[in-house]
Amino acid sequence: MNRTLAHAAVALAVLAGGFAVACDRPVPEEPSPLGTGKVGDVHSDPGGWIEYTIGDAPLVLSAPHGGSLTPAFIPDRTCAECLIGADVGVEDLARRVGAQFYARTGRRPHMVINKLLRGKLDPNRSVEEATGGNAVTIPLWKAYHAFLDTANARVAAENHRGLLLDLHGHSHAIERIELGYLVTSGDLQRSDAALSASGAVARSGITRLASDNAGHLGAAALLRGPSSLGALLGQNGYPSVPSPSIPAPAPADEFYDGGYIVDHHGSSRGGPVDAVQIEAWKVGVRDTPENRERYAAAIVASVIEYLKLHYGWVPAVATSTGTSAR
Ligand SMILES: [Zn+2]
Repeated sequence: MNRTLAHAAVALAVLAGGFAVACDRPVPEEPSPLGTGKVGDVHSDPGGWIEYTIGDAPLVLSAPHGGSLTPAFIPDRTCAECLIGADVGVEDLARRVGAQFYARTGRRPHMVINKLLRGKLDPNRSVEEATGGNAVTIPLWKAYHAFLDTANARVAAENHRGLLLDLHGHSHAIERIELGYLVTSGDLQRSDAALSASGAVARSGITRLASDNAGHLGAAALLRGPSSLGALLGQNGYPSVPSPSIPAPAPADEFYDGGYIVDHHGSSRGGPVDAVQIEAWKVGVRDTPENRERYAAAIVASVIEYLKLHYGWVPAVATSTGTSAR
């Protein structure tokens, strides 16, 4: 069983509340890697700590560090090297992005949310670091990644390809959006020609897009050209790196270039779903409901345009009731 199917099987087990089936119940049919349920259904692990909302758009939202729940039965992660700073406001941000995307397109993004405080579980790390050695959270880490695999499998089945946005918040000195494609600060500091020649984008979270995009764009254009995600976010009021106006971080700048989720659920290891980590500063962006609503609107406007320009995906126009003809 390959990794995706193995994770999807775990997701099904999670949805079913475990593998045990009472003898008076019918034996389940052969599990589907797409999971069960219809668009808009919300599934979770049995405890309700990890949440997956089924979508029908070629978009997956992931929010691993925005949770705030601190149940006493889960020990704190105390590993020496582990980061525990929560991404304040990002769970609410993800829900606002999902709601606004639906209102504008009539299609729902898939959405996977960790409701636990990062100090309890960090799904954007390998299982050892994610749990800090706490066995009780291993099934929750598995559930998070199984739900992402299920979301990606549904995107592939229904839309052939798509985009995963891993939503985060940073506390770096420069107030700008940092886009993590798994392309390092050093590679971004190269000239356009050297960046393209480096092959960095072929190892990135948008490997699939780089090999097949509607505008036949090369690496530099995809990462920081006038139709890049950073350009679109900038046009919508949020200066971003990389983008045409900020092509690379300076060598001394702090910069997140993408983490475990982008690496394991984007197209760098194959597969039809690209992934980008999107890191926002706090003040004026994710610190109040009004600011999160405004930032969510910018993300949604940018992503709708990005999906149209590069993936050729154009949703039916939403009606006043927020639904659309399919
Ligand atoms: Zn984060």
